[in-house]
Amino acid sequence: MKILITGGAGFIGSAVIRHIINNTDDRVVNLDKLTYAGNLESLRPVSDSERYTFEHADICNRVDVDRILNEHKPDAIMHLAAESHVDRSIDGPAAFVETNIVGTYTLLEASKAYWRNLTGHAKESFRFHHISTDEVYGDLEGPEDLFTEQTSYAPSSPYSASKASSDHLVRAWRRTYGLPTLITNCSNNYGPYHFPEKLIPLVILNALEGEALPVYGQGEQIRDWLYVEDHARALYKVVTEGRVGETYNIGGHNEKQNIEVVHTICDLLDDLVPVGSQSAGRSSGLECHRDLINFVPDRPGHDLRYAIDASKIQRELGWAPQETFETGIRKTVQWYLDNLEWCRRVQDGSYQRQRLGEGVAI
Ligand code: NAD
Repeated sequence: MKILITGGAGFIGSAVIRHIINNTDDRVVNLDKLTYAGNLESLRPVSDSERYTFEHADICNRVDVDRILNEHKPDAIMHLAAESHVDRSIDGPAAFVETNIVGTYTLLEASKAYWRNLTGHAKESFRFHHISTDEVYGDLEGPEDLFTEQTSYAPSSPYSASKASSDHLVRAWRRTYGLPTLITNCSNNYGPYHFPEKLIPLVILNALEGEALPVYGQGEQIRDWLYVEDHARALYKVVTEGRVGETYNIGGHNEKQNIEVVHTICDLLDDLVPVGSQSAGRSSGLECHRDLINFVPDRPGHDLRYAIDASKIQRELGWAPQETFETGIRKTVQWYLDNLEWCRRVQDGSYQRQRLGEGVAI
């Protein structure tokens, strides 16, 4: 297969590309605009493969998307390109409407035109896989409730509203035009190559620097955490084996309060890099990393609990996560300790020089 992946320089997109290049014979075309969240250094382990190609483009640009489709002739599209950070969506929702809604619309229209021109097996087997989030469902009330594929949409933030909107567009392009689509809605991901603005990498890196660990409210929000490589395997299963027109929820069976997550990271760091050791940076005067926790006012519209019922994908496609939170978070903390150079280049902005043609060409 040749798969066009949008947003392949992002956190999850790069995990999907590494998974495909390392575990299959498929070819990948990565279409990415390289916003602040796009980092080609996350693809370094696979970018030399002759099965990998990069296209620097914006999904909102119809001319570019048409050219890329007609030139590369993919068998499937996995659409991950998005603005993805909730806090940024509160400060500046316009980019979320533009990329997540208008961009998905543009990609759908281009895909529809491309698919209509296909014939025979190529037309029958073509797939458009839209990658979305469990945040479209809003938050859960009862402590035992779970999001299923039938849960009504009730997004709370500009981010989740824009993703919900894109899901509706994809569903409509299936119903109205017959485009062979699939949708997946996944819980919070964590793992290697996660941009340091998100909770888990932020906590790891701040703790290593001896800086405050900001926790919203009392840290009582519950998220269902999924290791990113488990998500990548699930997405590949869905695009290759999923039933057309279906939605699959993907989750980790790992519900944790944010404060538990932060405590776990602090305790792991106490083991791996005890406070006062050289690599713990400026943390002198502290007894343990938990002392760095700093509760900050909650963000507006913050959902209290998300939890996924992932039984459909397990039943139909035989997918289940391989990592528990305990194994996944240990791997993640160790990965950050082993890859401080990747983090440094994100934090000082040098990873973005590639976009301007400087630095390492990948
Ligand atoms: P990310 O922010 O790390 O990466 C997004 C990528 O999209 C970046 O490489 C960026 O350069 C690219 N991009 C942004 N705008 C673009 C545009 N207009 N044209 C082309 N490329 C563009 O995001 P992520 O965490 O990897 O999430 C990927 C997808 O998965 C998103 O659709 C997100 O909604 C969804 N998702 C994320 C999570 C999570 O926990 N991170 C959970 C469930 C679903």
